[in-house]
Amino acid sequence: KLPVHGIAGTNQERTFLAVKPDGVQRGLVGDIIARFEKRGYKLVGLKLVWPTLEMAQNHYADLSKKPFYPGLCKFFSSGPIVCMCWEGKDIINQGRQMLGETQPLASKPGSIRGDFSIDLGRNICHGSDSPEAAAHELAMWFPEGVNDWAKTVDAWVYE
Ligand code: GDP
Ligand code: MG
Repeated sequence: KLPVHGIAGTNQERTFLAVKPDGVQRGLVGDIIARFEKRGYKLVGLKLVWPTLEMAQNHYADLSKKPFYPGLCKFFSSGPIVCMCWEGKDIINQGRQMLGETQPLASKPGSIRGDFSIDLGRNICHGSDSPEAAAHELAMWFPEGVNDWAKTVDAWVYE
């Protein structure tokens, strides 16, 4: 059995990705999941959660000194989010690339934020930015663990 955060630097690296309340409200969950599925990554954890303000504050604790922190936490707890754990080679870095820049206006077309968002505080998705953050966030959002399943098409994705 793998640890919930997988093994960084291998094909079993894992990251925490989330569709934020704006992305859920706007009906973008399916599209976001589809991008990672089609790329060949493996979905090992998935659930809809309505975060409490305390959960939001905990999730963004590293930003607690920023002036936008209270508004960010209020927004993040304003409706359900979709929590995902994705697995595969370089998924932490690739996940961030596929999301785009924090600032949607600086995000390239083809990225999730570049295709679907405009404002910084409504950038629809979250992704862990390092192996340490992935381990921390996966433990926080998936305390029950995830699913270690074998994806039979992997031989057609990895050489
Ligand atoms: P991320 O990892 O790309 O999501 O960016 P950060 O971890 O730096 O910030 C978390 C979230 O806070 C971002 O996704 C934005 O929605 C929001 N945010 C970041 N910087 C700012 C800012 O300067 N102003 C406002 N209003 N929101 C911000
Ligand atoms: Mg961040």
